[in-house]
Amino acid sequence: MNVLVARKLGFCFGVREAIKLAEHTAAERRAQGRAVHSLGPVIHNRQVVARLTEQGLQTIESLAEASAGGTVVIRSHGVSPEVVEEAARRGLEIVDATCVLVKRAQEIVRQLHREGYRVVIIGDPQHPEVQGVLGYAPGVIVIDSAEEVDRLPEGGRLGILSQTTHSAEHFGRMVGLIAARGYPELKVVNTICNATTERQEAAVELCKQVGVMFVLGGHHSANTNRLAEICRETGVPTFHIEGLEEFRTEMVVDQTTAGVTAGASTPDWVIEQFVRHLEKL
Ligand code: SF4
Repeated sequence: MNVLVARKLGFCFGVREAIKLAEHTAAERRAQGRAVHSLGPVIHNRQVVARLTEQGLQTIESLAEASAGGTVVIRSHGVSPEVVEEAARRGLEIVDATCVLVKRAQEIVRQLHREGYRVVIIGDPQHPEVQGVLGYAPGVIVIDSAEEVDRLPEGGRLGILSQTTHSAEHFGRMVGLIAARGYPELKVVNTICNATTERQEAAVELCKQVGVMFVLGGHHSANTNRLAEICRETGVPTFHIEGLEEFRTEMVVDQTTAGVTAGASTPDWVIEQFVRHLEKL
């Protein structure tokens, strides 16, 4: 079978760096006989988290669960300054794997507040990245839909930024709706990361050249689900599977060329193993 792979797929650099740092920290602290934790799973991928656990990285949901004198790895989504302060109070060592683009968003919130703007984040208030970023200034408002625009104050100067993984179209629409309310001053900072958009564009491009598409990644991964949806919208038969174990030969019956893409939390080895298998068919 002829297999074409999307020109952008799988791990973004923020996730790749976070995993590398988590692995390195786990190996080093383990050798020193110290406990190593990650605050929340480093990545939303079961195989990777299981491998990190084997290497000694224990996932915890709150700092209260950390062993005394232990190390806590902050994942790429980042955390609020309160979490860092709490870790210091508990005597825990922090290893910060926050993605540089998330760090930039955190700094922008701080700066906008210093400049006297009321900060508005266009994002999902439940997303860990947003929960961390909003801790960088008091009174930050998070909205994500047209209906929520009414929650904004009537007047004043607003400083607006986006959750890094949101689409530029959505951010632009929301900024347009806010501008229509007639504020005297708006400062808009583009904090969108291109990794998601690049993967979606590359997948659509690939759909034009293949008879069947495979999207690899966790069924619970939002960005992988969205990738699969976008591929289906092109009309090409699309299968969203976690990896080789979910593949069945009926999926490629009568097909000569298959396309492969993967969500931002899918490890390289899952992609490579799958591509090698398809090529042998
Ligand atoms: S901001 Fe972009 S590069 Fe950084 S972790 Fe998020 S998706 Fe990855």
